[in-house]
Amino acid sequence: MKIGLFFGSFNPIHTGHAIIASYMANHTDLDQVWLVVSPHNPLKERSELINMYDRLEMAKLAFEHAGNIRVSDIELKLPQPSYTIDTLTHLKERYPGHVFSLIMGADNLVSLKKWKNYELILRDYHIHVYPRPGFGESEWIAHPSVTVTETPLMELSATFIRKAVKEKKDVRFFVPDKVLDFIESKNLYR
Ligand code: ATP
Repeated sequence: MKIGLFFGSFNPIHTGHAIIASYMANHTDLDQVWLVVSPHNPLKERSELINMYDRLEMAKLAFEHAGNIRVSDIELKLPQPSYTIDTLTHLKERYPGHVFSLIMGADNLVSLKKWKNYELILRDYHIHVYPRPGFGESEWIAHPSVTVTETPLMELSATFIRKAVKEKKDVRFFVPDKVLDFIESKNLYR
């Protein structure tokens, strides 16, 4: 099967993420999308990061009924911080029947050069890039391993969700209902 991997902190997962996962799983030639929850992105600030098990649980709640969108806990079990190349190598060995590719926004493609062994990633994996406002074409866009997919977009960020929750503002419709229930029941981001 063709599996598109969508990496992120998902702190928390929101509708912007869900739209990408759903579009890629249902409207491209990918068979499945696996959402890979990263305990800690080495390139990202971590002060507001809540524990990885809660983030994993929220991601699972978001896609409970979507058979072709799976949530992977693989990076919770691998050494941290997680580097994408190591996770890819691990998945390739564990699932030799699958062909893995990456799904990333144009914002991520811009910083690709900072990733561990990015040349190997480009050599061995296909990257599906979707445009993000404010991020034009990077030098990688013309690379043979990169294709652009025009996805619908909802410009939300987890930072916005965390701030709104903290300020007790309503985030219904910005996160899946079950995710909101989870945030409230565990009093997260307050
Ligand atoms: P934060 O605000 O905490 O930085 P985030 O909302 O950007 O978080 P991440 O978990 O870092 O979320 O994102 C995972 C992946 O989803 C990244 O590739 C990121 O570029 C992408 N992404 C984030 N928000 C959106 C959005 N609104 N639409 C499409 N892609 C998004």
